Amino acid sequence: MNKPRFITFEGIDGSGKSTQSRRFADQLRAQGQDVVLTREPGGSPGAEEIRQLVLTGDPERWSPETEILLFTASRRDHLEKTIEPALAAGKTVISDRFADSTRVYQGATRGDLRAMVDNLHKLMIGREPDLTFIIDMDPATALERGLARKSGEDRFEDFGLGFQETLRHGFLALAHANPDRCILIDGNRTPDQIASEIAAYA
Ligand code: ADP
Ligand code: MG
Repeated sequence: MNKPRFITFEGIDGSGKSTQSRRFADQLRAQGQDVVLTREPGGSPGAEEIRQLVLTGDPERWSPETEILLFTASRRDHLEKTIEPALAAGKTVISDRFADSTRVYQGATRGDLRAMVDNLHKLMIGREPDLTFIIDMDPATALERGLARKSGEDRFEDFGLGFQETLRHGFLALAHANPDRCILIDGNRTPDQIASEIAAYA
């Protein structure tokens, strides 16, 4: 048996992470792989509870430092309860967002706390994905898609175009700094075109 893979999808809000992670999971399942499709923030019962605490929409609720601790606690629970057990059982794990989102979002909002993010990751998480798809695209189009989406599954669309542009550059920098695991995907295409490029990594 091949080593079970931990695969993540990253990118700005509206770039198609949820769409493409579902499609890739469906494809791998159709090929007979046992796949756990999960997401952050959340992905385990405890982490989903912490998600509700963090994503209050009230910027005064937590200090930036406390918010990073909550994201780390949530990720630790996700790792312990969902990701590690699935990998140990030989399953493929696909996560819609993971640690790169914290790196990029905290780097964009509080660049001075980036060392804290990295130190906590080393101390409490330690795991990096085997493969990360970073979906890169025009922020204006991504914002339109995000606003058009009905489910409200993600709060990040509230931040506006300038912030999306900053995040985009954060994800691009991260992709270039981690070429061993990051694949840059052009999201300015139809879902079918994007899925068929990603399908080559099955
Ligand atoms: P994310 O999870 O990155 O925020 P989603 O997968 O939820 O993005 O996609 C945002 C919205 O755009 C959804 O309504 C989705 O159906 C739509 N969408 C996703 N990919 C594409 C695409 N390649 N072209 C046009 N619309 C898309
Ligand atoms: Mg999503």
